[in-house]
Amino acid sequence: MYVGVETGGTKVVVAIGAGPGKIVAETRIATTTPRETLHRVSDWVDAEQADIQAVGVASFGPLDLRPDSPTYGRITTTPKPGWSDTDLVGWFADRHGLPVGLDTDVNAAALAEHRWGAGTGEDDLVYLTVGTGIGGGAIVRGRPVHGLIHTEMGHVPVLRHPDDRHPGSCPFHADCLEGLAAGPTLQTRYGRPAQTLGGDQLHQAVELEAWYLAQLVTTVTYLLSPERIVLGGGVSHLPDLIDAVRDRTRALLAGALASPRLAGTLDEYIVPPGLGDRAGILGALALAADATHRSTRP
Ligand code: ZN
Repeated sequence: MYVGVETGGTKVVVAIGAGPGKIVAETRIATTTPRETLHRVSDWVDAEQADIQAVGVASFGPLDLRPDSPTYGRITTTPKPGWSDTDLVGWFADRHGLPVGLDTDVNAAALAEHRWGAGTGEDDLVYLTVGTGIGGGAIVRGRPVHGLIHTEMGHVPVLRHPDDRHPGSCPFHADCLEGLAAGPTLQTRYGRPAQTLGGDQLHQAVELEAWYLAQLVTTVTYLLSPERIVLGGGVSHLPDLIDAVRDRTRALLAGALASPRLAGTLDEYIVPPGLGDRAGILGALALAADATHRSTRP
């Protein structure tokens, strides 16, 4: 049995179990200060008195994931007040005396989709989420990609839609994907939440979202050559959006790549999540399972 912890901006999901259909306890804890939040997570885990082998943490970033770094396992410079320099791995290792696996929320979701969801049977998978932010995790040969820091796919520069007058909402970039296509931008673009749009506004929103998201899908296709791309997150539920992204991606690729999977409608290439909104917490459990053979402290 493992503990999975999925930290988010407003809440932390904590589960005890071993995978889909094998979760024996789960709770949600409000995200407040790091100290209070982590204490409450660990107190709940202790109270469950389960036989735990490891802890997996799927967290918002940025994270230090370099095992040889003196600050490995910490959140680094997040804009979330008080959370910069929070030692996630150190906390759970010291408090519970167990091995701890840590990765970004999107890499964890990609891992879960790879192991149990829409990416089973594929070695190379990309998971994209479009919600309050835009992020992407990559699995290459079955393992999450880290490199220098970790992927931050939401910040890729994009070519602006000719009809788009929105200034963009990223504090760093004028024309990046997240700034032009994440949920909060949709909200300010139309003055209402994306899921309440209808008629011409919905039609235009889907066209704009597909215009932008297909640029990331195309870039990822050229750079990483994944076997499948999973498109999730709240905004991905807009009616017909996934089909629109498939159409726009096909137009952008323009037949440049020869693969049966990239021919036709792309409905085996760009797919909705197999695990719905459970990919993050299940990914945390997968990180724990993968950490069991590690030492308690890296
Ligand atoms: Zn940006």
